[in-house]
Amino acid sequence: MTDAQHGLPEPPPAGARALPEGTFAGVAVLVTGGGTGLGRAIAVEFARLGADLVIASRKKEHLEQGEEAVEETGARVLTVECDIRDPEGIAAAFDAAAEAFGLPGVLVNNAAANFPVPAEDMSPNAWRAVVDITLNGTFFCAREFARRHMAAGTPGSIINVGASYAWTGGPGFAHSAAAKAGVKNMVETLAVEWGPYGIQVNGLVPGMFPHEDMTADIRGNLDRTSEKDACQPAMRVGRLRELGWAATFLASPYARFVSGHTLVVDGANWQRRSLTNPPVVTVRDQMGRGTFQP
Ligand code: NAP
Repeated sequence: MTDAQHGLPEPPPAGARALPEGTFAGVAVLVTGGGTGLGRAIAVEFARLGADLVIASRKKEHLEQGEEAVEETGARVLTVECDIRDPEGIAAAFDAAAEAFGLPGVLVNNAAANFPVPAEDMSPNAWRAVVDITLNGTFFCAREFARRHMAAGTPGSIINVGASYAWTGGPGFAHSAAAKAGVKNMVETLAVEWGPYGIQVNGLVPGMFPHEDMTADIRGNLDRTSEKDACQPAMRVGRLRELGWAATFLASPYARFVSGHTLVVDGANWQRRSLTNPPVVTVRDQMGRGTFQP
C-alpha cells in the first residue's frame, strides 16, 4: 500500500463534542428505534448535549437498552412502547412525551425494517411490512409532530434517516430501497410545506456503520463482504459518533437555514464506480440461494 491509500482520517475520539455544551438544554428529542444501533448512537449524542430523550419502539428489551445508554450520560429519558405503523400509538407516544418533557422540539425518524431477499422471492407481506414501517411509519410520525407544532405555533426539526439506495436502487433490497426513496422525497416535500411554520425537515443517510445490534439477516449480508474497510473509498467504515455529530448539527441552531437537504455520511461509498466493469453476480448467487424455484 502506498501513502496515498491510507483512507480518510479517523475522527476525534468518542466523547468529543462537535457543538457547544448544552446546545439542546431544555429541548426534548424523540428518536424512533432509539434503543438500538444507529438510533441509540444518535440519541446518546443529543443527550450529551443536554437534551431530554424520548425513545419509541416496539420491544421492551430495546427500550431498556436505549434507556440505559442515555442514563449513562446523565440526561433524562422516557421510553414509550410504540409501533410506528399505528397513528394512534404515535399520538399516544407524543402525549406521553409532552407530559414528561413538553412537546419534543426534534423528531428523529430512525426506525425502519429491512432484510435482504431477491425481488422474485419477496412475498407481498414482506414488501408490505417494510414499506409500512419505513415509509408509512416515517410519514405518520412526521405528520403528528408537525400538526402539534403548527397548533402550538412553535418551531421544530425533523430528521429522516435514509439510505443511499434511495438514489441508486438496492439489489437485494427492493422493498427497503423503494421505501427509502419515498422517505428522501418526503424530506423535500415536507420541508417546503412546513418551512413557513418554522419546521425544518432534513435527511441523514448513513453509509456502512456496523454495530452489535444488526439483525442476523443484515449481519449475514455484511459477512459476505470479507474485508469491510478495504471495500470503502474511505478505507474504513463509519464510526457511530460521526453519525451522532451529523444528526445533532442538522437539528441544532447552527443549521437553521438547512432544510430539505439530505446529508450523506458514508465516505463517498455511494458514488463509487469501477474503472473496469467487474462481472455481474446475481443477487441469488451473492446470497447462495441456488436456482429460482417458482
Ligand atoms: P436496527 O438496529 O435494526 O434498528 C431498527 C430500530 O427500529 C429498532 O430499534 C427497532 O426497535 C425499530 N423499529 C423497527 N420497526 C419498528 C416499528 N414498527 N415501530 C417502532 N420501531 C420500530 O437498525 P440500524 O442499523 O440501527 O438502522 C437505523 C436506521 O439507519 C434505519 O433507518 C436504517 O435503514 C438506516 N441505515 C442503517 C445503516 C447501517 O449501516 N446500519 C446503513 C444505512 C441506513 P423495535 O424492534 O423495538 O421496534
